[in-house]
Order: sequence, then C-alpha cells, then structure tokens
Amino acid sequence: MTKRTVCVTGASGFIAAHVVRELLERGYAVRGTVRGNPSERRYAVLRALPGAAERLSLRTVELLDEAGWRPVMRGCDAVIHTASPFRLDVQDPKRDLIDPAVAGTRHVLGAALEAGIARAVTTSSLAAISDEPVTGKVFTEADWNVRSSAERNPYYAAKTAAERLAWALEAQADGALCLVSINPGLVLGPSIGPALNPSVAVVRDLLLGVSPVLLDLSWMVVDVRDVALAHVAAMELPEARGRFICAAESVSMARMAQLLRQAGLAEGYALPRLHLRGRLGTALVKLIAQRQSAGTRSYLLTHLGKVLRADGSRLTRELGVAYRDVRTTLRDTVGDLERWGHLARPR
Ligand code: NAP
Repeated sequence: MTKRTVCVTGASGFIAAHVVRELLERGYAVRGTVRGNPSERRYAVLRALPGAAERLSLRTVELLDEAGWRPVMRGCDAVIHTASPFRLDVQDPKRDLIDPAVAGTRHVLGAALEAGIARAVTTSSLAAISDEPVTGKVFTEADWNVRSSAERNPYYAAKTAAERLAWALEAQADGALCLVSINPGLVLGPSIGPALNPSVAVVRDLLLGVSPVLLDLSWMVVDVRDVALAHVAAMELPEARGRFICAAESVSMARMAQLLRQAGLAEGYALPRLHLRGRLGTALVKLIAQRQSAGTRSYLLTHLGKVLRADGSRLTRELGVAYRDVRTTLRDTVGDLERWGHLARPR
C-alpha cells in the first residue's frame, strides 16, 4: 500500500532529487515541484527513478507565485522545502537571491499551513549559521549569521533571512506546524541528473586547475546521500525539532587535493601543487580577488586564510545519520563528474 504523500519543492535540484529517490524507495508518494513543464527531457531522470511511474507526480510552480502553491500542497501530509536559488554570483542580489528565497519560504509554508500540513523540513545552510569562518571556533546550531547582507555574501544573507522567516512562521502557527531545518555545509557526491551543481564544481575546478594554485580555503563537507537521509529522517521522526547542522568534516583545499592524489583520482588532471598560504599568500590572493565578480569576491575576502569548523554531531545523535567518509564522497564525486562528462581532461 502507498504510504503518505510528501511534497518536495525544487524536485529536480541536486539535493532534492536524492530526497525524492529516498522517499520513493521507502514507499512514499511524492509530489515534486519544478519550474518547467514536467514532461521536459531534463526531468526524465526523475521520472526514471524506481517507483516514480507509480508514485511520483510533478507540478509546475515558481517560488514567487503565491497562489500557485495552494493546489500543490492540498492532499500532502508533509513538505520538504529545498527550492531556493543556489549560486554566489547574480546580477541583482535582492531580486535574484534574497526575494525568491524569502518569498518562497513564505508561500510554501503558508500554503502548507492552509492545507493542514503539520510537518515541514526546510533546507537551510551553514550559511545561515556563519557569515565567515572564525579560526578556532566550532560553530553549533546555537549560532546565527548576523553579518551577511545584499552586499556581503548575499547568498548567505538569503539563506539566513529565509530560515529566520521559517522559524517566525512556525512560532506564529502556534503548534499547528512542526519545523525542522537541515543546515548542510558544502554538499558533494554523485548527482542523479546531468546538471553540474556549484558545490560539486569545486571538485571539478580543482581537478581542472581552474585556479593555478591551492588557495587557503576550507569547507565543511557532506555527502549528498547523507543530506537526503537527514531530510527524510527529520520528516519521519516525530521527536525531531529545531536546527541540524549537516556536515561531516572540515576539509581544506590542500587536504582535498591530497586526498584526490592519494586515491589516484587526480591522474591526468591539472590539479595544482603550489599552495598559497600564510599572511603573504592570503594577502596576494585577496588582491587578485578584487578582480572577481561581486559574489565570489565577497566570499573570498571573508573566507580566505580561515578554517571553517562546525559541529554536525547532533544529526547523528538525534536523527541517526552516520556520515560517509569524505574519501568515499570524493571518489564518488569524481566518478560521477566523469560519467556526466564534466571533466574534459586537459591533456
Ligand atoms: P540546485 O540543484 O540548484 O537546486 C535548487 C532547486 O531550487 C532547483 O530545483 C531550482 O529549480 C529550484 N529553484 C531555484 N529558484 C527557484 C524559483 N525561483 N522558483 C522555483 N524553483 C526554484 O541546488 P542544491 O544544491 O540542490 O540546493 C538545494 C537547496 O540546498 C537550496 O536551498 C540550497 O540553498 C541548499 N544548500 C545547498 C548546498 C550545496 O552545497 N549544494 C549547501 C547548503 C545548502 P531549477 O532547476 O529550475 O533552477
């Protein structure tokens, strides 16, 4: 018998497609939302998932279209809200990042409440927890990003404003809605579709030597399959409440390069060896960063030369998600980049 119906917003996204796969595997009916026409070729990978023919329906709706969300939510038992613009560089940060993220949260959760949905899981980010790394500090779920703005790390500002609104709506709902937010770090791993996600592009760019030197940057890395498990566990466990950092390990660019080399995954690629670090190296890269587009420049200026650390252990303790080893994630990321043709070997 078919289990309950779950709405997954932005179903074609890198993370959401894994959430859809996991839900179908567990016997749920899934109502996925997309921006295009559901019959388009780019959604064929979703329609081909095991169980999709019987239990996946796709609906077209835009985050800014308030009325469009009401019919989508009717008849659903839970919502997993992942849809949100995900990129550092845009023309107009307010129009292209902050407004859709915030309005989308308002429309999705508003329509969910109207439809009597009592359980919502929202994909937030470590970006809603920290605007910039503070070397020596381990961020936790108690931390909030209080510095990002339309000018400074605007993607981070969008994620923070959207998550804050989600919690405000939950409070207003006075017990009618139970919300969980999943706050992932840099999400890597295999992709269900051919699109190249900006987070996975970090590994592709490293292998292709897009930057001729290793920069003093670090990320809290997590596998997309674990992120999907976290969303589904958060939806299923009645006692799950609040925010969950979803990040396994702090990995610097130099360490990532070392792990790729050690695993034999770098052969034939232009992975850089020279590491620009220390005060002088960071100052030099910050100078070069001035020539980058606004979003990337802001990110580099706030992140270079610092080590990002966050405690993702609550997710394992309370939702039972054990993180995959970063070596496994990197191996599967590279295999997948090759499979989809994203790694044209430079030699
Ligand atoms: P993604 O592949 O770009 O997925 C984003 C999804 O949102 C896509 O389905 C996209 O639809 C949809 N979307 C964007 N703007 C929309 C709009 N105005 N109306 C309707 N749909 C819209 O990126 P992702 O990595 O899976 O991101 C999913 C969520 O995870 C986002 O909330 C992101 O902020 C969060 N996150 C990602 C990472 C990461 O490292 N990847 C880390 C932390 C948090 P189209 O396909 O039509 O563009």
